[in-house]
Amino acid sequence: MFTDIDLRSKLKDINGKGYKAYKSIEGVYQFEKYKLYIDHVQSDPFAPPSRVRVRVSQNKANFPVELFKNYHRRVALQDYLTRQVACAISMNAKGKMGTGKGGLIVIDRCGQEVLDRTSMVVSEKYVETRLSIGLPARGRKIMAREAEEILFEKVSKIINSSLLYKSLNKEQVQGYIELHEDQVYLQSALKEHKLVAFVANGSILPRESGISDKPLKGSNVIPFQSPKSLEVTFQLPNNGQITGMGIPKGITLIVGGGYHGKSTLLRAIERGVYHHIPGDGREFVLADPDAVKIRAEDGRSVQGVNISGFINNLPFQQDTKKFSSENASGSTSQAANIVEAIEVGTNLLMLDEDTSATNFMIRDGRMQQLVSKEQEPITPLIDRVRELYEKYAVSSILVVGGSGDYFNVADYIIKMENYAVKDVTKEAKRIASQNSDTRQQEVTNEFGISERIVDPVSLNLSPRDKVKVRGLHKIQFGRNDIDLHYVEQLVDDSQTNAIAEIIRYATKEYLKKRLPLIEVIEKVLEDISVSGLDVISPYQGQHPGNLALPRKHEICSAINRLRGVRML
Ligand code: ADP
Ligand code: MG
Repeated sequence: MFTDIDLRSKLKDINGKGYKAYKSIEGVYQFEKYKLYIDHVQSDPFAPPSRVRVRVSQNKANFPVELFKNYHRRVALQDYLTRQVACAISMNAKGKMGTGKGGLIVIDRCGQEVLDRTSMVVSEKYVETRLSIGLPARGRKIMAREAEEILFEKVSKIINSSLLYKSLNKEQVQGYIELHEDQVYLQSALKEHKLVAFVANGSILPRESGISDKPLKGSNVIPFQSPKSLEVTFQLPNNGQITGMGIPKGITLIVGGGYHGKSTLLRAIERGVYHHIPGDGREFVLADPDAVKIRAEDGRSVQGVNISGFINNLPFQQDTKKFSSENASGSTSQAANIVEAIEVGTNLLMLDEDTSATNFMIRDGRMQQLVSKEQEPITPLIDRVRELYEKYAVSSILVVGGSGDYFNVADYIIKMENYAVKDVTKEAKRIASQNSDTRQQEVTNEFGISERIVDPVSLNLSPRDKVKVRGLHKIQFGRNDIDLHYVEQLVDDSQTNAIAEIIRYATKEYLKKRLPLIEVIEKVLEDISVSGLDVISPYQGQHPGNLALPRKHEICSAINRLRGVRML
């Protein structure tokens, strides 16, 4: 191992040389307070910044074991520290130097969710942060003095103010971890109480804008208040009692006039599979961890999915027990999304009429008279939703402001009125019983799910093929693309990075065994839970890149959308 003095002298040697000479500083350096790992040096000033880790031993960092004694606490502490580092960077390392990405210091960017990510590792021995640093150059000539300023002064300031326990706000750290622990507790307590979701009184559900996930502010924001009939109270491990609306298992409708807050409520619940940071407004909006938002997604690619429960007798006798399409319609895509979610093990489907295909949701009495069942391939969800609950234990929360036909199949009906929630179950049931409707239930076959096995050959990459992630919604997998725009519970770019690596890892480790898709993914997730998220990184023993843990649902969603994948 080298020392900081070696690094200074190496830098002096390469000052003014061509950029490639930076490669010579790759290695590990012992500084007084920490070890600096220069794992990978970028090839030129415009390439992705160099990957650097800084490891502070616990003798110096001094974090009490109590703060990371189990998985959830450790995830919360790591998440907190990642944000602290980001904050320290913005105070100490603003601005660029020279060409390209020179002078840049970044750590993986966190959103409103606390996620297990590779940006930080806290163990009994050390705290390690993973940074990307743009090594500076003028044109393509090395600016060694500026590099020294970054790697010595700036990094050291960042570490001093964010990775030593003594320099942190202890109450804030504690509060952050305890909130996370309460969220984990509450989410797991839902099952025992036969609930699928919980929305605490006082929660702030609306977001700042369509492109910002931060809470809406201002005097017009109405905090959530549960109707008395659905109110439940939990005793939290750390933060006392919490009261709010419990949505029981079964079929729940959210009704109400347009612009009264229906979609906002559903969106908050669908994000309740994650744990939100203090101040988010959705700290105690929690859903079953396997809840899946379903929407229409016309144009998506579908491979070998049994959608026969929803779609039958397509033109040209297309097989719907093993349905494939490069360009699914609104209704067939929505059917595939449901079947795939159940295949992966969901307990709760969430649908919003705003993003659903009308003919998938409903076929009313009049239409049944005009277009006979023989002429309509679609069995609408209204005729399946109870079967899904009763035979498959899959609950549903449905936003339907447009069809009272659903009153017959729902267990609970809540109404949004000026952003306030009312329980209107009795009233809706009374209306349903007083107004006979002419609609017939039209089910001719049983709903079924078929296991699918990914054909490993279809995921083979040639040596020239690349796997590239382009933001939250796109993965280029060799010559094919995965479009994740409509996978609404994917929330973080680093989850997308991880999904790409997981697919690659699965290809190497498990796909050849020809197990069902979900078993392959569960095996990968098992490896991650044993060895940490670093295990899926292609850079073993080095900076693993920016990865954050996705759910099995989003991983399978990506594989399901990969154009070119074949199912056996
Ligand atoms: P709907 O689905 O019933 O048509 P939305 O959920 O889309 O209505 O909400 C309409 C608008 O009201 C959105 O701009 C949303 O941000 C805002 N909104 C929703 N809930 C609240 C609330 N509790 N307080 C203030 N504004 C809200
Ligand atoms: Mg809406």
